[in-house]
Amino acid sequence: MTESPNPDGARARELDSSAVFHSWSTQGGRDAIAIAGGLGSTVWDHDGRRYLDFASQLVNVNIGHQHPAVVEAITRQAATLATVAPNHANLVRGEAAQRILDLAGPAFNRVFFTNGGADAVENAIRMARLVTGRDTVLSAYRSYHGNTGAAIVATGDWRRIPNRFARGHVHFFGPYLYRSEFWAGSPEEESQRALRHLERVIEAEGPSTIAAILIEAIPGSSGVLVPPPGYLRGVRELASRHGILLVIDEVMSGFGRAGEWFAHRADFGDGRESVVPDLVTFAKGSNSGYVPAGGVIVSEAVTAAFTDTVFPGGLTYSGHPLAMAAIVATIDAMKAEGIVEHAATIGAEHLGPGLRALAEAHPVIGEVRGMGVFWAVEFVDDPDARTPVSAAFMAALGAALRERGFLPLIVENRIHVAPPCVVTPAEVARGLALLDEAVTAVEQR
Ligand code: PMP
Repeated sequence: MTESPNPDGARARELDSSAVFHSWSTQGGRDAIAIAGGLGSTVWDHDGRRYLDFASQLVNVNIGHQHPAVVEAITRQAATLATVAPNHANLVRGEAAQRILDLAGPAFNRVFFTNGGADAVENAIRMARLVTGRDTVLSAYRSYHGNTGAAIVATGDWRRIPNRFARGHVHFFGPYLYRSEFWAGSPEEESQRALRHLERVIEAEGPSTIAAILIEAIPGSSGVLVPPPGYLRGVRELASRHGILLVIDEVMSGFGRAGEWFAHRADFGDGRESVVPDLVTFAKGSNSGYVPAGGVIVSEAVTAAFTDTVFPGGLTYSGHPLAMAAIVATIDAMKAEGIVEHAATIGAEHLGPGLRALAEAHPVIGEVRGMGVFWAVEFVDDPDARTPVSAAFMAALGAALRERGFLPLIVENRIHVAPPCVVTPAEVARGLALLDEAVTAVEQR
């Protein structure tokens, strides 16, 4: 706090606790920073205290805060036509859909727009059930798919909300080499065993009852679990063999986060673009959250299934013009400025090596994993037994980081280091130095 705090900061914090019913993650009381502004990878409070936003808010501000071209596009659209119903055609909606299709590849021919990630997942699940005439959706225990009806049930045991009305969801374990409960060994072996496990689950449930396998390309909230070689491709093959649709959730991993437009198109040991899903969900990075948006990218085969039958889905704000203008401007700016390639380079040359060097220096860091600007750092008490550090350790670490002006996402015994794709090497170096300092300070306590 400065000598004479800005009254807006106090007012923001007061109203935040007296008038806002918070999301689950902060209901247990909080001491929130009131964010007043931002630019690029930095945000500041009402007193001008600056923070490196290495969480990109909720891993969505991929293009950085206040990108001028995106702000300008939203402003221009607001002055022209601020809202339009989905039952009318609208140029900017079509432009946004076409740009997304161009990025997704030739297998896809339509985009169904939603307001965010959870409703994208809801609609993808509904499409899969209607197309296959089957009910069951398989998804990973270690996953996050959103906090609405089917999406939260698909999310698995991690943060599961008890829902006795939830039917038709079955979970399986995906690969996680660092904490491999049921299989161990090399990444290749982990991949093969995880695929055998999934195959057993499919057989046990009955393949003809399964509508979809829903997976994140890189499970994000559950720990940035980059898939081992052959896993995604193996899941694709299992799905195809049994007439099951493959839904890949790119809500967090897409639009530059993993140094790729879509993480599932990266080379995970089978060559680039070796996995073609039937449906792809997206949201966050598509317009960096400047205006809420999400959607489902639909393959030709699924589109064709709705030629003679109506898909009973639709939202008042589907393809909202402000959100669409932000998507068009975001994709254009990311292409023009090489932002996705930049994110890949930052991961390969700065953030990845820097975090690994920190792990070498601090035994309390058990593992570092990720790609692009999408990383997790796991903290353990005992590097051999890999026992997670206590909640008190993580709270102290979070406080030490915040004091130093560094804001990552903190989940369980991990910090997720996910700066905007536009982060500079100098900002990465500064962030790593602050992280080093904070870990040292907490270790010494
Ligand atoms: N899917 C994934 C992979 C996510 O990470 C998230 C959000 N963290 C969602 C879906 C849900 O998105 P939203 O919060 O926009 O509903």
